[in-house]
Amino acid sequence: MQFTSQLILRHPSLKILEIRQVFLRIFAWTGAKSTQNPGISDSGNTPYNDRRINLLQKLILPVNKCRLTASWKTAAYRVRFGFQHYGADIISTSADRTLWASGNGTVVSRGFDSVVGNVVAVSYPGAINHRSGKASDLILRYFHLESIAVQVGQAVNKDTRLGIYGRTGSMNMANHLHLEADTDTKHPLFSPTVNSSSYLRGRAFGANDKTMSSPLDWLHCKTDAPDYQAYSTAGDSFIAPADKTIPNLTGKIIGGGEDLTGGDGYSTCVCEALLMENENLKRELANMRKDQGVSTIG
Ligand SMILES: [Zn+2]
Repeated sequence: MQFTSQLILRHPSLKILEIRQVFLRIFAWTGAKSTQNPGISDSGNTPYNDRRINLLQKLILPVNKCRLTASWKTAAYRVRFGFQHYGADIISTSADRTLWASGNGTVVSRGFDSVVGNVVAVSYPGAINHRSGKASDLILRYFHLESIAVQVGQAVNKDTRLGIYGRTGSMNMANHLHLEADTDTKHPLFSPTVNSSSYLRGRAFGANDKTMSSPLDWLHCKTDAPDYQAYSTAGDSFIAPADKTIPNLTGKIIGGGEDLTGGDGYSTCVCEALLMENENLKRELANMRKDQGVSTIG
């Protein structure tokens, strides 16, 4: 019941009765006695039920001094390398290859894949797509890591080190991060980049690339302290015109209204399914999003 008390403490305007109703539904929904972190799996076979959309956030670049070397699905890349590029390739312009989490989220998977090396997948609730102006829960998949610094189930924020990017996996290449963005939070380990592999699931898994998009559509460049991010692109060959610039951002990455998570994005989860059944909570969420000027996918 720690969950209940935290929710009340951090959101005193909620009535006890409403909290009780939410809880009754949580237990009815999951059939579990403890539901702090339902559905997390690093197997990729169990749907990951991250229904926390009690915040809106602007995700920021995973590398502070960031250079984009290849965009999502450019024709030139396909011609040059013989396969469609379902992600963004990113390097650092400094010697620092640290990967930072892009906002508030939860590590849903980590492991080693024979083709793309060390993999981390992080779920970010309520991410704002600056291209469409809409928000959605989002999975970011990070490939080719040299080392991984986080565990499955770990809450992350923009100040969490995910690891260091490198060149692991059987593809012969230079150090870089391959980053994929997917709104299908039920299949965090799907990637159309592989057909069959030791860890990731390809198309045979049943998911598809229709829920994927350019990671740069979701990323902002946080130019102020302590991140001091900078963004550039490498030449024109593999860069989509839309990726030439991304929005700069200063200050908070959390959107309008109150962040019910207390800033850690994890400790007080509210399930969207439950929110949708509770008129008061639903109204609050709608207001929060109205303040932020975004609509929601789905
Ligand atoms: Zn790539």
